[in-house]
Amino acid sequence: MSMESSNLWLPDSWQKKPAVQQPQYPDAAALASTVEQLRLLPPLVTSWEVNALKAQLAEAQEGRRFVLQGGDCAESFADCQSPLIANRLKVLLQMSLVLVHGMQKRVVRVGRFAGQYAKPRSADTETKNGVTLPCYRGDLVNSPEFTEAARTPNPYNLLRAHAYSALTMNFVRGLIDGGFADLHHPEYWDLAWVKHSPLAVDYQRMVDTLGDSLRFMETLAGQSVSDFSRVDFYTSHEALLLSYEQALTRQVPRSPGWYNLSTHYPWIGMRTADVNGAHVEYCRGIRNPIGVKVGPTMSKEWVLELCAILNPTNEPGRLTLIHRMGAGKIAQHLPQLIEAVRAAGHKVLWICDPMHGNTQSTASGVKTRRFDDILSEVTQAFEIHARCGSILGGVHLELTGEDVTECTGGARNLADEDLQRAYKTTVDPRLNYEQALELAMKIAGINRT
Ligand code: PEP
Ligand code: MN
Repeated sequence: MSMESSNLWLPDSWQKKPAVQQPQYPDAAALASTVEQLRLLPPLVTSWEVNALKAQLAEAQEGRRFVLQGGDCAESFADCQSPLIANRLKVLLQMSLVLVHGMQKRVVRVGRFAGQYAKPRSADTETKNGVTLPCYRGDLVNSPEFTEAARTPNPYNLLRAHAYSALTMNFVRGLIDGGFADLHHPEYWDLAWVKHSPLAVDYQRMVDTLGDSLRFMETLAGQSVSDFSRVDFYTSHEALLLSYEQALTRQVPRSPGWYNLSTHYPWIGMRTADVNGAHVEYCRGIRNPIGVKVGPTMSKEWVLELCAILNPTNEPGRLTLIHRMGAGKIAQHLPQLIEAVRAAGHKVLWICDPMHGNTQSTASGVKTRRFDDILSEVTQAFEIHARCGSILGGVHLELTGEDVTECTGGARNLADEDLQRAYKTTVDPRLNYEQALELAMKIAGINRT
């Protein structure tokens, strides 16, 4: 095959490559007809938003912005409810306010939402009391209940996921356009905890200071600083179920090339980052900014090949490496990757995901993460990048705006026994609103200029 023909790309090119983590649909014709319907439905985002985000990520890559990416491990259709969506938006806004204030940098806000419905799993099946069923792969594929009906992959879920993503997007866009995120009024974002949290005093002081500086700048400028009355919010999800991603990959009149218009910023998960696999092949051809998770088992050669395939022209803002090593492993693995990427001349945005390398089980078998491990990995990440002359341009977190008990530690020092009180996630443990805000305050503290 000539170089050119092997490099040709179309939204379905991935189908010629091995695609791991895909469900086995019992009815291939039903899947095909659903994908065809999805292909005709309007997209969820636009190419110009995608391009605007890419420009912001290019600035983050240069250290001029900081990326806050966060949301559920797995969204669920049942949780597509206004208070849950608004609270998640609020906690992300509050965190970004803390980061803007502490780091004196503009923050790029990216939700893990409006499409985070597919999950990679370590086993294809699950066995309980002698019964073996397909594993739960996220609401995009099936349902978590342990029954044959719930676990059978249902193609119709692709249409439902698209609709729920659109409902979520519509609400988020409405809130933001209506001034929900106006920095002049951070008091609107108060979650109930602000009144009785151990962090309340610090947070309030920061909000007051920010309000003062905003008024000061407006006095100097003689007009309102309109840039602060609006914020951008972008969406991201793991590009896992490739039939879904393909159906929403479009060409549009305004921008050349193919765009995945189901989300602004798809990422490739650690289990699907094989350089010869279908996920890398799919992501190679779209114009969106792309993230790739980088774990402790990935060699320098592997990471360099990913950079070469996913960003051959070194386009600014195009490629994000999201390292997720674990607090005990980051010091050993990250420095050599940073050195190798730099030596090869690849320009990337580095983001730290301190969640996925720090998952563990309690004595009674509950999946959790310790706040101190999460904080330790982020702290080490800043130090390592600084030492290597590189830039940590953001964090990637699993969090919720609710008072759940899924991660231990934090200001209220949740213990293993507390986890049962409000353990709600269907997949990975998330920071609750207070732990999320505390983490933002700690990150701001580390970086205070
Ligand atoms: C995730 O982000 O939920 C996830 C599964 O991450 P990773 O691919 O890094 O394990
Ligand atoms: Mn997860």
